[in-house]
Amino acid sequence: MTHSTPIGFIGLGSMGSAMASRLIDAGHRLVVFDRAQAALDPLAQKGASVAGSAADVAERAQIVFGSLPTPDVVREVTLGSQGISAGKSRIFVDLSTTGPRVSAEVAAGLARAGVVLVDAPVSGGRAGALKGTLSIMTSTPRATFDEVESLLKVFGKVFYVGEKAGLAQTMKLINNIISVAALAITSEGMVMGVKAGLDPDVMLDVINASSGRNSATTDKFPRAVLPRSFDFGFASGLSAKDVRLCLQEADALGIPMVVGSSVQQMLSMTNAVFGPHSDFTSMCKLVEQWADVEVRGRAAGQARGEAVRPGAVAAQ
Ligand code: NAD
Repeated sequence: MTHSTPIGFIGLGSMGSAMASRLIDAGHRLVVFDRAQAALDPLAQKGASVAGSAADVAERAQIVFGSLPTPDVVREVTLGSQGISAGKSRIFVDLSTTGPRVSAEVAAGLARAGVVLVDAPVSGGRAGALKGTLSIMTSTPRATFDEVESLLKVFGKVFYVGEKAGLAQTMKLINNIISVAALAITSEGMVMGVKAGLDPDVMLDVINASSGRNSATTDKFPRAVLPRSFDFGFASGLSAKDVRLCLQEADALGIPMVVGSSVQQMLSMTNAVFGPHSDFTSMCKLVEQWADVEVRGRAAGQARGEAVRPGAVAAQ
């Protein structure tokens, strides 16, 4: 069944392309915009109509979703001269991770244009976006939530955390810093084990049946580190942005984040060595360089955990 009212979608990157695609599969007509033509083509091929700007999307759709990389881009796409506030939409659902401050600012700016913001950051990576198994944390007035809940369910499990814009962002930042901390300590532990002569596949089997189990041991390492693909689908630069926003917020609340600060340094080093477009699982390669080993699993098709020459890791 095709729904008659078009839905807008802006930002068709790693996450947005998968979520927009699911809306089409669920029978919705989509009006899409992305500043990169290459991002638009696959959705246009699936039947979405392509708009010329965010404002153009907002002229044609009452409810518009956004999945955008940084707080600055979200500000521009919502409140800029060619943004949502220049169109006729009623509701903007922001699926991006922007932090509570920008979310509150955007909510106030959009309210002046008669648009209600649904703060709706997501967790679960591109794989979750493709499968519809994301978790979606929302904060917005209850009546608006009731209006968009069925659409959000197309992406996964929906949580309502409160009325105030920014609350869902705070929830998301807390989740992400915990997740990256798990990636960091798992990188250190796995590299240490390989250096000591342990098999990384066996290590994951043991940890996943033990108390060290976490989202890096169950998902990121088996999928992107042991096979040496480093293609989990989340850029180091975007992860660093999330951790920076979380620490800013903790600081504003007067709360020290000792472990969080170390996680930020690990991401800064990953960015410096592998670049902001590298996958954030590259953090493990950083630790590997210090130890001169690779966390290479059976799936990578080579002997496991062998020591490598200095430089061989950096060349990957
Ligand atoms: P991405 O960089 O792959 O995609 C962003 C898209 O936005 C790109 O296609 C880009 O061309 C487009 N864009 C940039 N500026 C634009 C503008 N001014 N107008 C229109 N389009 C513009 O990023 P992503 O990984 O899909 O992440 C999107 C958001 O979701 C981020 O806020 C990120 O933190 C969050 N997030 C990502 C993941 C993940 O695993 N990738 C998971 C949860 C949340």
